[in-house]
Amino acid sequence: MSPTAENVLAAGARLAAEAARFTALGWMRGTSGNLSEVVTRDPLRLAVTASGLDKGELAASDVAVVGPGGGPVTVDGIEPLTPSAEAGLHARVAALTGADSIMHVHTLNSVVAGHHWPGGVRLRDIETLKGIGRLAHDDEVIIPVIANSQDMAELGDRFEAAYDPATPAVIVASHGLYTWAPTPLRARHITECVDWLLAYRIATR
Ligand SMILES: [Zn+2]
Repeated sequence: MSPTAENVLAAGARLAAEAARFTALGWMRGTSGNLSEVVTRDPLRLAVTASGLDKGELAASDVAVVGPGGGPVTVDGIEPLTPSAEAGLHARVAALTGADSIMHVHTLNSVVAGHHWPGGVRLRDIETLKGIGRLAHDDEVIIPVIANSQDMAELGDRFEAAYDPATPAVIVASHGLYTWAPTPLRARHITECVDWLLAYRIATR
């Protein structure tokens, strides 16, 4: 079933609210970062924040609809805006993980952590790991780090190679963080907890 304008605008309203929240935390400076939500699975269609807009000031209609390759798809009643170049990776994450909410933010902690630990960021025995669905004790968690690329197919291949179903986050080196979850609320909480865990790891290295 194809998405309706109502589906897309409802997703757009949720994405705008989450983007405003992350902007207030300094995680979407300039026009950086992008958030998306799956609006239909078959065919795969995502609403993704449109390119080049201030993420603190988005309206529900400031979304683009994309297909599995990240290219724009027309939906009746929705103005066709340009999707972010990174929409292709969002679609790949949605397809591979099954998550309906994907968040990409340029947090300083993710970039600093990727710089210090290009092979992955190890975490264990810290209570906040529970916030990303892992255990507070005796559970070694590695947040994967993948090399950056402007080619979304290449970045998608790196994501797929690094993906661990038990860890809902990947750092893109010298760039930022991707997280995913079944709902925007859960994805928000994972993003907040991952950022905190990375800050902790940097502070205690
Ligand atoms: Zn980015």
